[in-house]
Amino acid sequence: MSKNWYPVINEDNCIECGSCVNYCKHGVYEKGQDKPVVVNPEGCIEGCHGCQSICPAEAITYFGDNGEKPSGSCGCGCGGCGC
Ligand code: SF4
Ligand code: SF4
Repeated sequence: MSKNWYPVINEDNCIECGSCVNYCKHGVYEKGQDKPVVVNPEGCIEGCHGCQSICPAEAITYFGDNGEKPSGSCGCGCGGCGC
């Protein structure tokens, strides 16, 4: 749980596929009218890149991401994020 790390959607890139909403097991997203909405940033797991890794449009970055690979597992349990 961290407010220091949460996804930010680049709405210009997002193709509204809904994959991130379906993928995240932590209730961070809700499907909005068209684009996903980050409704629960506190639920995002610091260091997890799961939704970014499955986004087909490279539309997801993270507040708090300094570009460094997190050491070890983020422990999110999502899979697909390389931990
Ligand atoms: S980074 Fe992980 S925990 Fe955070 S919104 Fe994406 S899939 Fe969910
Ligand atoms: S996975 Fe990427 S393209 Fe698909 S809805 Fe989410 S941000 Fe948009």
